Amino acid sequence: MPQPIRNIPLNVPYVDDALASYLNEVIVAKKFSGDGVICKRVETRLREQFSLKHVLLTTSCTHALEMAAMVLDLNKGDEVIVPSFTFVSSANAVIRAEGTPVFCDIDRTTLTMDIADVKAKITPRTRAIMPVHYAGISADMDPLMALAQERNLSIIEDAAQGVGAKYNDRYLGGIGNMGAFSFHDTKNLMCGEGGAFVTNDEAIARRAEIIREKGTNRSNFLRGEVDKYTWVAHGSSYILSDLLAAVLLHQLDRMEVIQQRRKDIYVRYNEEFRALGASGKLVLPTIPANCASNYHLYHILLPHEAERNRVMGELKKRGIGAAFHYVPLHQSPYAQEFLGTKGLRLPVTEDVAARLLRIPLYPGMSSDDIEYIVKNVKEIVH
Ligand SMILES: *Cc1c(COP(=O)(O)O)cnc(C)c1O
Repeated sequence: MPQPIRNIPLNVPYVDDALASYLNEVIVAKKFSGDGVICKRVETRLREQFSLKHVLLTTSCTHALEMAAMVLDLNKGDEVIVPSFTFVSSANAVIRAEGTPVFCDIDRTTLTMDIADVKAKITPRTRAIMPVHYAGISADMDPLMALAQERNLSIIEDAAQGVGAKYNDRYLGGIGNMGAFSFHDTKNLMCGEGGAFVTNDEAIARRAEIIREKGTNRSNFLRGEVDKYTWVAHGSSYILSDLLAAVLLHQLDRMEVIQQRRKDIYVRYNEEFRALGASGKLVLPTIPANCASNYHLYHILLPHEAERNRVMGELKKRGIGAAFHYVPLHQSPYAQEFLGTKGLRLPVTEDVAARLLRIPLYPGMSSDDIEYIVKNVKEIVH
C-alpha cells in the first residue's frame, strides 16, 4: 500500500469555535464600518500589549506602509533605503509616495539590513531608512537609529512579520519614527487582510489619521476638536472594517496559545536538525542574543540553489508545503526596467534568496505532522 498523500500547507491561520461569537457581536450591532467599538477595543489592546502610544488599524500592512511614506512628504527623487530581500510592499510604498527605493544588502546571520551597506547607500537625497524585521528577527536597530539621528533621517519599520517580537526588550514597530504591522492570513496574528500603522509620535499620528480618513479631519471632529469635518490634505481610505477587527480581537485573546505553539515547533525543529547543521548540510536560523523572536517562520539554508530546489521538490512531492522566499527586488522585472537595478549586485541577498527554504510552521500542526516533516527533511537532506 502506498502511503496516503499528506497535505501539510506552509501556513494555516489559527481558528477555534469561539470566533463565530466575536463576529456575531458585530452582526448584532449592525455596525460593519471601521473605527467602531471593536476597532477601538483592538487598537487599545495593541497599544497596551506592545507599549505603543498610537495605533491605527488599516486594511493591510501595505497600506500602513503607504501611509508612512506619505507622512514623509517626499519630493520626486527623494530616496528611501530598503532591503532588496523583502516583500514588494516595502518598495511600492515609497514609489507610490513619489520617492525612489534604494536597495541595500542584508546581514548573513539575521537576514535583515546590513548596516554597513545602508551607510554606503546614503546620498544627499536620502530621507528615510526602512528596516524589515525578517521572520520575526529585528534589524539591528541601535546602530540604525544612531545613523538616522546623525544624518537626520526617518526610520519606518516594516514590522509585518515582527508583531510581538523584541529588540533589547522593546517591541518592534515602536522603535523607529513609524511602524507597520500585518494581520494578513499568513502572519502570526491575522484577520484575513489587515494591518496597523503605529507610532509613538503625536504629530505623526495626527497626520497619519488624516491620510487614513481620505484626507479629512474627521478624527478631530469625532473627538470634538472641530465642529465640522472637511478635506484638509491628500489621503485615501485605509480603515479596517469592524467585522475584520473582530477576527483580530479573537486572535489577540488567543495570542499566548498561538505564540507558545509556534515556539514549541520552532524549538523542536532546531533540536531535530542540529546534527544536520553541525555537519554543514544546512544552516539553521539564528536568534541574536538581544532579540526575542515571535517565531513567525522557520527557514533553513541549503548549500546551493540546486540542492534547495531538489529538497523543496522532494518535500512537495511528499505533501509538505515547503517554499522559497522572495525574488530579490533588485532582480525583479519592475526594478530592472524602472529603477535601473540591472547592474546592482547584492551578494548576500542573492546568495540567501537562492538557498533559503521555509517549512510549515503554524499553531494547528499535529504532533504527527511535525514527526512526518522532521523524518522527511532528515531523509531528503543528506
Ligand atoms: C506580509 C508582508 C507585507 C504586506 O502585508 P499585507 O498586510 O499583506 O499588506 C509587507 N512587508 C513584509 C515584510 C511582509 O512580510
